Amino acid sequence: MEWALSISRKRAEEIRDPLFILPLGSTEQHGNHLPLGTDTYIAEAIAERVAEGIEHSVILPTLSITYSWSWKGIPFSLYIKESSLKELLKEIARSSTQYNPKAFVVINAHLANDSAIKYAARDLSEELPDLRFFYFSYPPLEMLERDSEPSFTIHAEEIETSLMLYIKPDLVDMSQAVKEYPSKPKGYGKKAMVLGGLSRSGSFGDPTVASADKGRTYLETMANWIIETLKEEGVI
Ligand SMILES: [Zn+2]
Repeated sequence: MEWALSISRKRAEEIRDPLFILPLGSTEQHGNHLPLGTDTYIAEAIAERVAEGIEHSVILPTLSITYSWSWKGIPFSLYIKESSLKELLKEIARSSTQYNPKAFVVINAHLANDSAIKYAARDLSEELPDLRFFYFSYPPLEMLERDSEPSFTIHAEEIETSLMLYIKPDLVDMSQAVKEYPSKPKGYGKKAMVLGGLSRSGSFGDPTVASADKGRTYLETMANWIIETLKEEGVI
């Protein structure tokens, strides 16, 4: 397992059949107890855990400014258009095919990116049918055991906070963690709606019950789910 940004030209030339892994995070508010880079750190940690046992796996530089439209206006949440993200993914995947990758795997930790990734995958399947392009977001939530009730979206709550307590404890301030269940606004899912004003704390759910132990379990569950799928697909 190697990080692309750390590989020399000579080393890169030695790797003939790379498995490229592209982590996708975000730069967006995650309450007062978690950093803006929460999704980015989670995506990188999952990518690293997946890549660990895979020969010639190369983790590409993380895309950290993605589709965070819902939090616009909350410092310093940044976003690019969904169509730009879709094109960016296609261009990176297209460019990677010069080096005959065994597969190109996107590991996404920001749910709002899902549509852009899915449509990039569909376009690529037509344009580059030989490229084995896979994408993974958080696994089905029933795979992750929780002590708290879920809110209508996953954000800065038990799962993300636990993952961060395990991955980057120095960046978590549990004294600032607040349980908050904003009520689902009328028209949610039926019209364009920013989420910024709905949660005073920035959380949707209960981060106060988070723990590093749970974070380790979540990380293992997600990584194993991805590894199993890649095995089933005959990639590894
Ligand atoms: Zn997040």
